[in-house]
Amino acid sequence: MGAAWSGAALSSALLLISGCGDQPPAPAGPVALADRHPPQVVLVTLDTLSADRLGCYGGRDVATPHLDSIAADGVRFARAAVPMPQTAPSHASLLTGRSPFSHGLTDNWHSLAPEVDTLAELLLRRGVETGCFYNVFQFNDANLVQGFRTQVRDVSDLANDLLPKFFGWLDALPPAKPSFAWIHLFIAHTPFVPPDAHRARYVTADYDGPLDFSVRTRLELLRSGGFPPHYADEFLQLYDAEVAFLDERVGALLDGLRARDRLDRTLLLFMADHGESRALPTLGMHAFVASQETLRVPLLVRGPGVARGAVVESLVENVDLLPTVLESFGHDPVALLGELLDGRSLWPLLAADASEASDDAAGGAAGTLDADERVAFGALPCTPPPPGELPDVERLCAWQGRFKLVVQQRDGGEQEQLFDVDADPHEQHDVAAAHPNVVRALRRRLDDWLARTAARRAPAGPLSRAGQQMLQQLGYGDR
Ligand SMILES: [Zn+2]
Repeated sequence: MGAAWSGAALSSALLLISGCGDQPPAPAGPVALADRHPPQVVLVTLDTLSADRLGCYGGRDVATPHLDSIAADGVRFARAAVPMPQTAPSHASLLTGRSPFSHGLTDNWHSLAPEVDTLAELLLRRGVETGCFYNVFQFNDANLVQGFRTQVRDVSDLANDLLPKFFGWLDALPPAKPSFAWIHLFIAHTPFVPPDAHRARYVTADYDGPLDFSVRTRLELLRSGGFPPHYADEFLQLYDAEVAFLDERVGALLDGLRARDRLDRTLLLFMADHGESRALPTLGMHAFVASQETLRVPLLVRGPGVARGAVVESLVENVDLLPTVLESFGHDPVALLGELLDGRSLWPLLAADASEASDDAAGGAAGTLDADERVAFGALPCTPPPPGELPDVERLCAWQGRFKLVVQQRDGGEQEQLFDVDADPHEQHDVAAAHPNVVRALRRRLDDWLARTAARRAPAGPLSRAGQQMLQQLGYGDR
């Protein structure tokens, strides 16, 4: 993926949040919206949140007023992609701006190489105060918290109430200090433990068997012949209850920032690391499913310089968040990362009128592809291959406009399928025969991407014993 926007777009995007003190001076014009305040950015990653559960993405089953309010007050990205449906590789891409086959962390069972620069490291070196707040997942063992000067992990906090810890950190910051915080909310991932009020509202299924809702349990059920009656219904209802709880905690975050008079001067970015698989027989198995359900996620942004109530139809990816945040602090991501950067700053889309930003949406409408148009690549997790070698993955995909190419590799052979994901979001009808040119074009882009990223791959590191135990507790089994 090309790294750079045009110079004009880049310069217009720089410093949308102005600095003070030792920060670079703000440019003249409408972008200098946060004058007198240091840049403040809060990234919230929403684990396992499918876009279609949110009201602002067309969902009707769950009340999500707070996430919907962010869409109303900011920008909603209709086509946001993640490269893998697992927590560690997806977060690694978001935090490095590099695709998984470049940063090297291609499954949950390894760690990011220390020499790979993360967003937090880049900012910390440039005078930004950095803090991360998470509870369940082993981001420390996966080496994804490097660069955060404050690291708060509380595995005892299954109520997921990390916000008091975040606000304690925020309140202690010197007033003139620019800051970057990352909050990870694991709420929509199993095990499901929604508060009683949300459970009472959403869970009506009468499954009361002895089994829990862990990944391990579902794998055992699938191997032993399928789900018992009402299990799937209760799983889906518990998931919705957790989504409602997640939205409640997002509301608490917004309220806390508002009470501190910080809401309108904080750049807030909300993005899921992957969605959940809700279809049988892969119910709840997001880590092993590379579909639109898991790879297309919600992305919402609000804050100084961000358009209000806009919807961006252009395809974007989670690697775009690193350059976006770097620019918010006045740094040129291309100058810092060069060809290692797979993302593009979102600022030209955030600040622009949505109607001007949706050119990509029509991609492939006539059954052809624009060679310059963006493609989002996805893959199922795999064990990191040796440097320079192409990965041996089970499933690869390339999504552009309405079309998605899926390459399934199994038993030494492979199968290519093409889906019209606008008309067929669950990928039921292969239309490859009707669009051979699209298949060829997407396959060429996919092969180019694999070769390009493999050539600059960083080696993955091992995962600590504690990290492996955490994965086992979550039910992902051994590797
Ligand atoms: Zn996850």
